[in-house]
Amino acid sequence: MGLRLADKTAIITGAARGIGAATSELFAAEGAHVVVADVNEDLGGAQAESIRAAGGSAEFLRLDVTDLDEWKDCISFTEKRFGKLNILVNNAGISCSLSIAETTAEHWDRVIATNQTSVYYGMQLAIEAMARTGEPCAIANASSVDGLVGESRFFAYCAAKGAVTLMTKAAALYCAEQNLPIRVNSVHPGYVQSPMAAVDAAQNGQTVEEYTREFADRHPLGHLGEPRDIADGYLYLCSDEARFVTGTQLTIDGGYTAQ
Ligand code: NAD
Repeated sequence: MGLRLADKTAIITGAARGIGAATSELFAAEGAHVVVADVNEDLGGAQAESIRAAGGSAEFLRLDVTDLDEWKDCISFTEKRFGKLNILVNNAGISCSLSIAETTAEHWDRVIATNQTSVYYGMQLAIEAMARTGEPCAIANASSVDGLVGESRFFAYCAAKGAVTLMTKAAALYCAEQNLPIRVNSVHPGYVQSPMAAVDAAQNGQTVEEYTREFADRHPLGHLGEPRDIADGYLYLCSDEARFVTGTQLTIDGGYTAQ
């Protein structure tokens, strides 16, 4: 088998660290030209450099996914630099480990802007750019197990991730109805050992070890996921192997939602 993403161009948001960084490495290793798009310029620049050092093709671009103008710049940078856009992974996100009682309007607005509105901006502009290629294209959106089932500690986060589940299906149906060669799917990770886990632990007043132990027990496989577990799911959905897959939700959660 040849490389699974040979000659495809992919924008991966939130690719400076965690799941996005693992995905950018994997996509580049499978032959994609990768735009590492993130607000974190130091880590994002280093991530693109490390992909190039390993022989891959990558550029860093600063993108705040809550800003529509920055999205427009990101799409035009990608088309100018690599000639086309085939893949968008809307992976950037922030956590917010707060119940409905603890959530302020400010928390709410920030989580919805970063985890939900960003997916609308990115998909709308990417669909326009992808329609110009005429080649098979794919969008994969980061939802979560918290976009499928409720979790009292993640009120605003559940709202945004639940919306992403259905925004994905609505956009997938639109592309199919318009005969656009664009598939749209969502990925639903269980709890993953990424830098985000440390943010959640701190917000819960837990050490990372306490957090890992508590949440590992809630996954039937008995441990948290690794960023690469989720990157493999993004790879499948964005490769031509998933050519008959659109509007679906790929749950990668160690059995969390099977209970
Ligand atoms: P992470 O915090 O380790 O990394 C997130 C990345 O997104 C960082 O590089 C950060 O700089 C970037 N980012 C944040 N706000 C941004 C913005 N406004 N514009 C551009 N980039 C921005 O998180 P992760 O664990 O790698 O999570 C990746 C995705 O997977 C997120 O959407 C997250 O909600 C989702 N997810 C994570 C878990 C988990 O347990 N870690 C579980 C389910 C879903």
